[in-house]
Amino acid sequence: MSKSFKRFDAIEAVKAPKNGMAGYVPASFDISRIFGENALHMNELKDRLPKQIWKELKKTITENAPLHPDVADAVAVVMKNWATERGATHYTHWFQPLTGFTAEKHDSFITPNQGGGAVAEFSGKELVQGEPDASSFPSGGLRPTFEARGYTVWDPTSPAFIMENENGSTLCIPTAFASWKGEALDHKTPLLRSTEAINKAGLRALELFGIEARRVTSTVGAEQEYFLIDKEFFYRRPDLVMAGRSLFGAVPPKGQELDDHYFGSIEDRVLSYMLDVEKELYRLGVPVKTRHNEVAPGQYEIAPIFETSNIAADHQQLTMIVLRKIARKYDLVCMMHEKPFAGLNGSGKHTNWSVSTTEGLNLLEPGNDPHTNKLFLFFCTAVIRAVNMHQDLLRAVIASAGNDHRLGANEAPPAVISIFLGDQLDDVYNQLKSGELKSSKDGGLLGLGTPVLPPLHKHAGDRNRTSPFAFTGNKFEFRAVGSNQSVSLPVTVLNTIMAESVEYMCEQLEDKLKKDDFETALRKVLTDVTNENANILFNGDGYSEDWQAEAKKRGLLNLKSTMDALPYLNSEKNVKLFEKYKVLSKAELDSRFEILVGQYFMNINIEGETTASMVQTMIVPAVVRYINELAATLDRGEKLGLSIGGTKRVAQHLSEELDKLIEANEELIKQNAELGGDTELEKAEHMRSNIIPAMNKVRDIADGLEKYVADDYWPMPTYRDMLFVK
Ligand code: ADP
Ligand code: MG
Repeated sequence: MSKSFKRFDAIEAVKAPKNGMAGYVPASFDISRIFGENALHMNELKDRLPKQIWKELKKTITENAPLHPDVADAVAVVMKNWATERGATHYTHWFQPLTGFTAEKHDSFITPNQGGGAVAEFSGKELVQGEPDASSFPSGGLRPTFEARGYTVWDPTSPAFIMENENGSTLCIPTAFASWKGEALDHKTPLLRSTEAINKAGLRALELFGIEARRVTSTVGAEQEYFLIDKEFFYRRPDLVMAGRSLFGAVPPKGQELDDHYFGSIEDRVLSYMLDVEKELYRLGVPVKTRHNEVAPGQYEIAPIFETSNIAADHQQLTMIVLRKIARKYDLVCMMHEKPFAGLNGSGKHTNWSVSTTEGLNLLEPGNDPHTNKLFLFFCTAVIRAVNMHQDLLRAVIASAGNDHRLGANEAPPAVISIFLGDQLDDVYNQLKSGELKSSKDGGLLGLGTPVLPPLHKHAGDRNRTSPFAFTGNKFEFRAVGSNQSVSLPVTVLNTIMAESVEYMCEQLEDKLKKDDFETALRKVLTDVTNENANILFNGDGYSEDWQAEAKKRGLLNLKSTMDALPYLNSEKNVKLFEKYKVLSKAELDSRFEILVGQYFMNINIEGETTASMVQTMIVPAVVRYINELAATLDRGEKLGLSIGGTKRVAQHLSEELDKLIEANEELIKQNAELGGDTELEKAEHMRSNIIPAMNKVRDIADGLEKYVADDYWPMPTYRDMLFVK
């Protein structure tokens, strides 16, 4: 009889020593020697370009001055030489379409001609502008298919880099992607526009404070969480392959309860993998810094040193690409879905964000006595106002089918957006509410009761893992961002709402300065804005039931599903906001809404169909075979006069559950066949209201069966296999 041979094969394969086990250990490397060797950084450009051209390019890179065609031509030559010296044969305009991933279209540097020769072709024109066939990327109605034209445009502020492949290397040129009408079809363009908005607002504020700066920029460092699963398991699970998450799986007796994984020692294979990933990223000039295990078994994290937001966003995409690519070398699959395993922590992308001057002054650095730090209080208060006024928007840009599992679940921040300030700042803001600032709590020293350990300086604010938006020392951390998503849109929103808030406070301050001295005027503005927005401040446990009730009382939004949150993206208020700061037009916002709704629909549609087919082709057959075996036992047992009561009860239970499973699956199949309407919105609504409940019902029964069916019949790797067999 054919049994679940596949599953045991997988376990054997995972346990068996791999041929190339030694190959798992990457060669040691010297970071300072390899860092950035595959990225074309400013210094390299400076060395290779004529002085005058370099000066002009630098102006474009650091001050966003317009780019002259002569400069582009000169850079093209340098870029091509630099790339071909490194073995590149092709170049590509690398961009971030609205899929949330990256796209590329490769062109050769060398074009064969009719005479049998070949010409090198890469001029300023090719560098600056490309024309991919854009019709295969989502445009959300911005670009009807008969106007398939789309342009990629070089972003000189983000370094070009080389992607290596066994059969050759490609020069990747970071680009923006727009329709021929100039509408942004990508995530980079609005991000760049939002950096202009924050620059303008920031400079206006700094002027009031008498501080000179060339530019104000936002900085971003995103912590990427991910799971690693052996490929032997991954490819035996159609749900992981198709949907990126497990649609079935009983939670094993041991999950993450023992907390024995977090910061635990990293196994050799995984450590080798991480080292290899880091090496690749260093070579690309991505400054990765920390690595550790996460809370759930099989879950890990990688974080970079922060950079300006545009470069950080490109580097974040590269990090995801490299994490996925290198995993294959180690017979692993890197999963970045927000909730690959029910009952275990999901994965997020904590997006650390701050605002600073190009001279390096961090405007969210509180110093030791925040109550005296006017500049900090001004900018921090602007963040509080921005988040309070635009909770809806922050929730909308992190909405996805995947992230819905996370927001409000086990460890993840809840769907209610609130700000955690920590003890010290909370106290300062309580003082501010009454209009008087007297003191800042000191963190003090932490004695550990033994003289051998040196005393520690305590942070003045503790951590609060339950907050979706937390102040962490000298930056805010937007924790609700999903692990799978691009940081570009969330950062675009942060920059824009911050610009709006800073401008509002500048206006208030300028107004009050007509009567009051600076000190008094500022205190009034800070107090007013704090009082108006204090509702968003919450230091307690974000997971508790009490908070849900309290948040409701405070009038905070609690948007549980993507379908509740997305309509805020292009609401009247937000269209106005984005248009005012020239970050996104109404048409561009509408298109993003449409694309996100479409993605929600497609993801759940795939899940619904995969669930149904796995039940039909894997789970039902396994249960039937096992019942058949039990039935045979019952037959023979009866003839032989054996005691068969227990076996009968098992067989009975399985048959009943099998009936229920088939019935629930029939309902799911029926729902799958209906689309709920013609528009994407109606289809997405159908997914939310009908497909998800139908899937959950099927899964409940199937997961119950997994605990009953003979282990050697179960047709797919279990959670226990995937998470604990290494
Ligand atoms: P934790 O896990 O304690 O939050 P990590 O060191 O893992 O800390 O991550 C902190 C992240 O915050 C890093 O990516 C770091 O570069 C980033 N970060 C630090 N300062 C800033 C800043 N001023 N602006 C943006 N990101 C920052
Ligand atoms: Mg963090």
